[in-house]
Amino acid sequence: GYILTPNVDHVCMFQHSEPLRNAYHKGFLVLADGVPIIWASKLLGKPVRQKISGSDLVYWLAEYAAEKGYSIFFFGAEDGIAQRASEVLSERYPGLRVAGVYSPPMGFYKDPELAEESVRIVRESGADICYVALGAPLQDLWNYENHHETGVPVSIGIGASLDFIAGKVKRAPLWMQKSGLEWTWRTATDPRRLAKRYMQDILQFFPLLAKEFFRSRR
Ligand code: UDP
Repeated sequence: GYILTPNVDHVCMFQHSEPLRNAYHKGFLVLADGVPIIWASKLLGKPVRQKISGSDLVYWLAEYAAEKGYSIFFFGAEDGIAQRASEVLSERYPGLRVAGVYSPPMGFYKDPELAEESVRIVRESGADICYVALGAPLQDLWNYENHHETGVPVSIGIGASLDFIAGKVKRAPLWMQKSGLEWTWRTATDPRRLAKRYMQDILQFFPLLAKEFFRSRR
């Protein structure tokens, strides 16, 4: 199966996307990627104990895989980035088995031949774990639609994690991650792409939360 790690942006997309909702219903594990999700869960009386973001899990899983002899496939991100990230993790966790690395061209999923080819490459690698770095919702839809065909026991959508590991993008300092401000850091590093995304999220998320809060109290 596959793991999903929702943040506020996913929660907003979830409201309007039936395919994403389907992907969430079929995932075997859903972990809170951001502190605002923890706050929301507490406010709504269903507290989630801990934030476990995809960008942390990629390290922990790699360490675990190196110990147990499981292999990891690195799928997605820009050309060269997934390769670099696999090298960084292999250096950090000696014995880590890299089943393969493949960064499909942007928009590959719209081309049936390329889409098929991508699934075949992952399947033939025989990987035990697949890191899928395509950003949301694409990575989660890709896992939903293809996890049976790839046959990989555990896939996980990891967003920009490979960019962080390879050093292409700098991750927010720990205090920002812990205080729910990671999104402000990301916006500052890539304002043209992310400012609109996060503004829309804020405008959607709080009314949604208020609605759920009053509904749960009723
Ligand atoms: N990406 C990709 N193919 C695509 C779209 C995105 O490989 O068709 C990669 C992109 O290079 C980046 C990653 O997806 O490494 C995550 O993007 P984003 O920053 O949107 O992820 P988030 O962490 O915000 O979900």
